Amino acid sequence: MEQTRKCPSCGGTMIFQPGFNNLLCQSCGHKEIIPELVSKIPVYEQDFLSAQNTASHDWGMEAKVVTCKQCGAETIQNRLQLSGLCPFCGSTTVEAADPSGDIMAPNGIIPFKITENRALYIFKDWIKDRFLAPELLAQNAQLNKFYGIYVPLFTFDVLTVNRFTGHFTENNRTLFKCGKFQHQIDDFPVVASKQLCSDKLLLNVIKDYRTNEAKPYTADALAGFPCEHYSIGLNEAWNSLGQEMEFYLKNQVNKQDETKYLMGIELGTDYFDLKYKYLIVPVWINSFFYDNKLYTIVINGQTGKIDGQWPKSFGTFAKKAALLFLGSFI
Ligand SMILES: [Zn+2]
Ligand SMILES: [Zn+2]
Repeated sequence: MEQTRKCPSCGGTMIFQPGFNNLLCQSCGHKEIIPELVSKIPVYEQDFLSAQNTASHDWGMEAKVVTCKQCGAETIQNRLQLSGLCPFCGSTTVEAADPSGDIMAPNGIIPFKITENRALYIFKDWIKDRFLAPELLAQNAQLNKFYGIYVPLFTFDVLTVNRFTGHFTENNRTLFKCGKFQHQIDDFPVVASKQLCSDKLLLNVIKDYRTNEAKPYTADALAGFPCEHYSIGLNEAWNSLGQEMEFYLKNQVNKQDETKYLMGIELGTDYFDLKYKYLIVPVWINSFFYDNKLYTIVINGQTGKIDGQWPKSFGTFAKKAALLFLGSFI
């Protein structure tokens, strides 16, 4: 939902100002602090088992889900607002999805810290070494504009009780070991966006948020920025963690006793007191078409970390390599 706010002094449109905790009027420059973003109130963990009954559905506005006909992305918009461009592919063919059912609202938000100018600077620095970069930048004005969007992120807290077996080598002998340990997991993240999870590289960039800096959700922080609807539900997000969680916990086994490095670890885990937070987190995104293929570049709107897809054209590569070769004789 892209929230719209009117300026109290001139009636202009106010939007959230990245890097600051305020709304800024686009016409007269009037500023208003957003109280939730400067508060010391933490984002509280929610009980997973009772989420169906206790989750908030209050977006601070009338919310609707809008689906992009071209790429399938679902964004949340104000029910009163006319649908705009899809932030993932730039398409105008968006339509309201089936309005049945409530839309779970976030518990917390990580506001944009990185400005669009900063995002462009990070991007230009990143593309320096990519072969097609100068040609594409010159041809494609779209590459000089990044779009800010909030994407959904679930984080999980859970107490794990683990039983393990494994073997280690000592004096050329293989010895077996078994044991038990408890480990409390804090804010294990799952990106709930199928749009940004289709590529492993993008996923890794998106995940490194400092979740302890999240603030209580407020619709004001969305003024001027659309928000993607989660396409991976809470249960699906938790269930999807199986392999990643097992990998993480197996690493914990060897942190219990670093003198005996265990191999072939088998692990059994019981989970207790599962809690979650539903956060929306900031991403600067640029999607562009090249040779009829959609490429996406993302920048973490809190930390500035960048990753993305880039076309690799052999023709241009060969031309450039030849020029470089000639250049070395001049
Ligand atoms: Zn104003
Ligand atoms: Zn789209």
